[in-house]
Amino acid sequence: MIAARKAGRHAEIAGAGIGGLTAAAALARRGWSVTVHERASTLRTFGAGIYIWSNGLRVLKAVGAYDKATVGAHVGPRFHTRDHTNATMEEIPINGPGDARLVTILRETLINSLVGVCRENGVEIRVDSEAVGAGADGELILAGGMRRKADLVIGADGINSAVRDSLDLLLYRKHLGYGAIRMLIPRSNDDVPVEDRDRYIEYFTGTRRILYTPASATDLYVALCCRSDDARALAVPVDRALWTGSFPYLANLVARFGEAGRWDAFEVTKLRQWSKGRVAILGDAAHAMPPYLGQGGGCALMNALGLAVAVGDADDVEKALDGWEARERPLTEHTQDTSENLGSMNFWPDDVRSAVLKIVGKSRQLGEERMRTARHVPTGTEAFAV
Ligand SMILES: Cc1cc2nc3c(=O)[nH]c(=O)nc-3n(C[C@H](O)[C@H](O)[C@H](O)COP(=O)(O)OP(=O)(O)OC[C@H]3O[C@@H](n4cnc5c(N)ncnc54)[C@H](O)[C@@H]3O)c2cc1C
Repeated sequence: MIAARKAGRHAEIAGAGIGGLTAAAALARRGWSVTVHERASTLRTFGAGIYIWSNGLRVLKAVGAYDKATVGAHVGPRFHTRDHTNATMEEIPINGPGDARLVTILRETLINSLVGVCRENGVEIRVDSEAVGAGADGELILAGGMRRKADLVIGADGINSAVRDSLDLLLYRKHLGYGAIRMLIPRSNDDVPVEDRDRYIEYFTGTRRILYTPASATDLYVALCCRSDDARALAVPVDRALWTGSFPYLANLVARFGEAGRWDAFEVTKLRQWSKGRVAILGDAAHAMPPYLGQGGGCALMNALGLAVAVGDADDVEKALDGWEARERPLTEHTQDTSENLGSMNFWPDDVRSAVLKIVGKSRQLGEERMRTARHVPTGTEAFAV
């Protein structure tokens, strides 16, 4: 437990997602009083899995959420990318000696673990509470007009952040013309050959991809990725005949897709600056990225803890926020840029993609660049090994 240092400090946070809850937990553990405002009427998240790499696991340890977050998690032995004939193009080493760690968990489990730490540390979480803006002098403005004063306001209200936009901080939002339908289904032994069952596998065919992800002993997380103008492929309920046609060797799996699923388009968001006065912008609100490195949530976790470390016992919150951005932003931008570059291969012909990935897979330097975020020791986690 971190000793309470600045008693009397108060934070108001918009958004009870990964970023907002992590910041709330980390600030509360530093002696701050914290109120989180969530627009939705419950704290439940939608049914999907999430990849958490070593960097994110360290943050979960540092905020005290690790044990509950990883209950029942899946630890895959390999990450494969496969071409349109189901041949392996690249194998990414994970979870072996000297490799980055990677676990997959249910989003629900992750959110519940963070909510648990928040509650244990006295954070007040209000649902049905929508933020509509903020004042740079330390005010969160709620729908209905109520204004809540704080030493620190955090806009962790996702890609369409009202807090960010009220302060005119947006540099750009770039839509990438690609996205994914995500769903959870029960695991079945007949989906893939026995040697593939516990692996993470990304199957490519043309501009479509299927990501196969065991997320617990019983849950399979599937992401169906396609261009934003591929109207039949992005329809929910999923067009099973269309997806079987693209991935005939996954016919058993596709046949089991149900009616549920959620489509999200990928984008990159960059801000002019991550804070204004006493208001910080965090997570997807500040730095959305496509999920090709599985690090959007990882960056939200790292920057939330980094923010709490920066302001924890600072005398000058505004100056501390400048220091936070200077320290955390370079790695986040590297992660955004690398993710965006990796996404360009979705649009390549199959044979070009196969040839490039086979070469990339042999390049140690490129492999290290790709793993830089996963291997990073985030601010505030130096004492925690994973
Ligand atoms: C297809 C896909 C796959 C992904 N896979 C991974 C992965 O494997 N690993 C990984 O690390 N990342 C992954 N990501 C990225 C990750 O999901 C996000 O980066 C992460 O959820 C961002 O967390 P956040 O708290 O910033 O935002 P969000 O999760 O969007 O949370 C924002 C919260 O704010 C609430 N809210 C919104 N507006 C308001 C308002 N005005 N007032 C109050 N509350 C409000 C919302 O209801 C929500 O609860 C993926 C993303 C996509 C699209």
